[in-house]
Amino acid sequence: AAGVVDGVARALRRADAVRRLEVRANADTPEDAARARRFGAQGIGLCRTEHMFLGDRRKLVEEMILARTDAERDRALAALMPLQREDFTRILEAMDGLPVTIRLLDPPLHEFLPDHTELAVRIASAEARGDLPDAHDVALLTAVNRMHEENPMLGLRGVRLGLVVPGLVAMQVRAIGEAVARRVLAGGDPRAEIMVPLVGDVRELRIVREEVQRVLGEVSETSGVALACPVGTMIELPRAALTAGRIAEEAEFFSFGTNDLTQTTWGFSRDDVEAEFFSAYLDKGVFPSSPFETLDREGVGRLVGIAVAEGRATRPGLKIGVCGEHGGDPDSVHFFHAAGLDYVSCSPFRVPVARLEAGRAALETADVSDSR
Ligand code: PEP
Ligand code: MG
Repeated sequence: AAGVVDGVARALRRADAVRRLEVRANADTPEDAARARRFGAQGIGLCRTEHMFLGDRRKLVEEMILARTDAERDRALAALMPLQREDFTRILEAMDGLPVTIRLLDPPLHEFLPDHTELAVRIASAEARGDLPDAHDVALLTAVNRMHEENPMLGLRGVRLGLVVPGLVAMQVRAIGEAVARRVLAGGDPRAEIMVPLVGDVRELRIVREEVQRVLGEVSETSGVALACPVGTMIELPRAALTAGRIAEEAEFFSFGTNDLTQTTWGFSRDDVEAEFFSAYLDKGVFPSSPFETLDREGVGRLVGIAVAEGRATRPGLKIGVCGEHGGDPDSVHFFHAAGLDYVSCSPFRVPVARLEAGRAALETADVSDSR
């Protein structure tokens, strides 16, 4: 077994020596970050902040959503901020000296709310007992009903959430800024980058970016630490890829979200890949395997190519990565190398495979030019 381990270590060293693609990991806890580092990740390419709003923090999120006045909402956000600051401080500490791309809150807001049926049943059974239903339950049900969407994945998500919920972006950015300042004051080397999800138009990014700069400016002033976090965007909608030249005016980096980009390019729900029809469809041989696993070069890949070319036409040298599941898929890694990306980001466990494949992709490209 020792021989195999040595062999793998040797192969990884060789791959690292030749590969051009940087390999980062998707991680959102300090534990995952540390694991990613052990597997050789050169940073975090995607820190999803949504899990940080679950568990005991759900109550605060409910308060934020139910707030009837700005003051009530601000109170809930103010309570969430130090918790987020602690999350970011610990992740930045685990990844000291390496980039950590923190993505602003993305998922549909209804995911944080209690289940509609559960609430309705609770209220109905209180009424059946002749009791007054719990006022909090009634308020929640009203909010859940008000926010109902037929297709939440095509609705209040990503940057739209940040635009629609006042104070949300500011809260997260303040937490990031203060975490960075704390790490700097503690003698660390924090490299936070701020990433905006589900952008489809440059104006969305411009609005959020102005807010980010404003808040970072405030934190710089109060902390005495000059903060300059790069602000970039996910490219995960066809419209973002097609207008990447404009979006690059406001983005210091791009990261392809190939999960959503595949979903929106094909019009297949990424949440229904287990549905019976999907495997029956794939069995027809239209596409060799699920496009959610192997990058669809003709469609999604073409959008990637357009976005790379247009983004760099606006901003030469624009840093571009990928953080969808495809970032750790061997075949897709070869595609991203050829497409001129700077990095792939994948689950910590896939980091070694991505390193090897990035090395192989670099050697294969060199072979082709050698034989010319
Ligand atoms: C993606 O869409 O590819 C992505 C990385 O974001 P998420 O999976 O969190 O939507
Ligand atoms: Mg996405």
